[in-house]
Amino acid sequence: MNLSSLLLIWYQENKRHLPWRETTDAYTIWVSEIILQQTRVAQGMDYFYRFTQAFPTVQHLAGASETEVLRLWQGLGYYSRARNMHKAAKMVVEQYNGLFPTEYNTLLSLPGIGAYTAAAIASFASNAPYAVVDGNVYRVLSRILGIDTPIDSTEGKKLFSTLAQEHLDKTEPAQYNQAMMDFGAIQCTPQSPRCEDCPFAEQCVAYRTHQTDILPIKSKKTAQRKRFFWYLDIWNDHYTYLGQRTQKDIWQGLYEPLLIEAPLSEIELLQHPTVLALHGEIVHLSPVYKHVLSHQIIEARFVKIHIAQENALLESMQKISDTELNHYPVSRLIDKYRKE
Ligand code: SF4
Repeated sequence: MNLSSLLLIWYQENKRHLPWRETTDAYTIWVSEIILQQTRVAQGMDYFYRFTQAFPTVQHLAGASETEVLRLWQGLGYYSRARNMHKAAKMVVEQYNGLFPTEYNTLLSLPGIGAYTAAAIASFASNAPYAVVDGNVYRVLSRILGIDTPIDSTEGKKLFSTLAQEHLDKTEPAQYNQAMMDFGAIQCTPQSPRCEDCPFAEQCVAYRTHQTDILPIKSKKTAQRKRFFWYLDIWNDHYTYLGQRTQKDIWQGLYEPLLIEAPLSEIELLQHPTVLALHGEIVHLSPVYKHVLSHQIIEARFVKIHIAQENALLESMQKISDTELNHYPVSRLIDKYRKE
């Protein structure tokens, strides 16, 4: 039996019942796909419901403010994806009369939609014959077929998309793509794949040659940059001060307390000109919060400072009462500090 037939049989017995699979509405599928790019299904479900309840249609999303969108996205990370969704929603309303496209190439022209998302939407919404290619597909195909071409090389990317398209069941593209994703998530997992009860056990090259912990191969190790943040959590009675991150960097559009980015010791920080100019009282120094992003490791500490009067240093920041603090989207790092 060929790969796609076996996969579809496996899917009938093992498929996950997910709310975005009960619909062919391209907008809903798009929301679920973008959310699932940065989180596992269990965590993504809650975000999916909150997002689609707040913005049930593309018109609702297009009409929202960027702050509202980021606030709902808070905690998911990769905030540029939320900003791109917002831009794409506006384009759909302006250029496509609010009808979310389902045609592959049109989808590719929208911000934040790459080959994977376009294939997912086109196949799930209109059963168009486009194979999704993501980490699951790289893993499953490289193991079953025994391919050791690095998946992050230009050659590898080309090879795996050709193979994915070749193996796609053109009569059941939506089912096939969903089957591939579930198979990668449930059976052929990155660590400890369930080879003993796998329908591909007899033909899977990686299993037969004991290479499941080697395949797929990645050539480059992503370099991680280390950054040091000192946040000045300044309070004046029931008010605090937040600035918006506007520069092209992580967390663009999110809010944060006054930041000194430098690898300073505690003593150096307390003698820093900005801290001295605040003329405040240091109330608390937090321990180090280590926050790992895909290409960066941030070591952050928070200094809680009470000030008795307004300070010119804070003029460019927003003065926010403690009751309104939750309206402002912040990074997961700041959220964690606040909760603790
Ligand atoms: S036999 Fe193991 S490695 Fe091969 S496809 Fe099945 S689960 Fe994946």
